Amino acid sequence: MTYRILAGQAADARGVRQRTVVTIEGGRIAELGTWTADCKAEPNDIEAPDALLVPGFVDIHIHGGGGRYLMEGTTDSLQAVAHHLTHHGVTGFLSTTITAPWQEQTQALAIAAKAMHSPDNGKEGAEVLGVHLEGPYINPIKKGAQPGQFIRPPSIEELARETGEDLHAVKVVTLAPEMEGALELIRWLTQKNIIASIGHTNATYAEIAAAIDAGARHVTHCYNAMRPLDSREPGVVGAAMARTELTAELIWDNHHVHPASCRALIQAKGVEGVILISDGIPGTSMPEGYTFHLGDLPVVVKGGTARLPDGTLAGSLLTLETAFQNATPFTLAQRSAMTSRNAAIALGLGNEKGLISAGYTADLVLLGADGRVQQTFVGGRSVYRA
Ligand SMILES: [Zn+2]
Repeated sequence: MTYRILAGQAADARGVRQRTVVTIEGGRIAELGTWTADCKAEPNDIEAPDALLVPGFVDIHIHGGGGRYLMEGTTDSLQAVAHHLTHHGVTGFLSTTITAPWQEQTQALAIAAKAMHSPDNGKEGAEVLGVHLEGPYINPIKKGAQPGQFIRPPSIEELARETGEDLHAVKVVTLAPEMEGALELIRWLTQKNIIASIGHTNATYAEIAAAIDAGARHVTHCYNAMRPLDSREPGVVGAAMARTELTAELIWDNHHVHPASCRALIQAKGVEGVILISDGIPGTSMPEGYTFHLGDLPVVVKGGTARLPDGTLAGSLLTLETAFQNATPFTLAQRSAMTSRNAAIALGLGNEKGLISAGYTADLVLLGADGRVQQTFVGGRSVYRA
């Protein structure tokens, strides 16, 4: 089907256009034009004079939402989360595991790998772009809300054995580079074209420098669950700011990171060096008091946060829809880069996704004047309408 979206404004990482006509053909953007006075909408067209059209958000760190959890490891839970994400403008995501018994991690991986190769991927929800393994090769002293009893010493042999043929679906592995065996694992992952991401770590600057030499190129939820910046020991945060080799994930929910710290990171790295993530958990979009279990521990939704009984933040209730709004010190183009374009590039999809440009996949979101998602398109199909 061919149709057009006529939007009052359109923005992507390259800039802003007023009164734009986007022609969509076979799931791709065929053409961009200007919505002039003599341009009349056809019956199939979507007219949105007050809306902002942006590239669909790409969330590379997401555990669940709307009461469903990707660690349930079922097709039903994956589809439910994929659909929930479209309510918040996400058109592609990495199904993200937590540190857990291997059988649970590989089950979630297998379900996501299967979905990636299904013709139905992206038909009714956001597209599964792969898997982010958050653990189990992390540092117990920076575990955050990850269940400590399932943390493992880094092992290439174990990871290869446990993931088997589904390894191809793994796009990011969060690990602590200071653990024994981690540098070998980083080298192996890098050879396999899998992003080794530094996270849940107490690494010193020297240890991060060695990880970068081994191939690490990414930092998991920068500031959270890592050694902070200090004058004589830059830690992981200082390394993330100083080293251009690293791209940093950031949870801009105004709970995990102070907005000034968000700005400091983005100003230090440049907009192209930061990827906004949700780190969303099942409690996202659920009512106050909603409780779910992370391993054995209850996580309760309260006052915009999700916490363990001891008060530790356990993932976030953020959506990229809200992150896009929270990042208002930055321009529309900069915010689009940090919610879509940069993630697409990191995943090797920079020629297909993350821009409103001819030839690109028609993964698009219409945002209302209030910033809320009005309509979400995945591969040109309307999958959600408010
Ligand atoms: Zn996480």
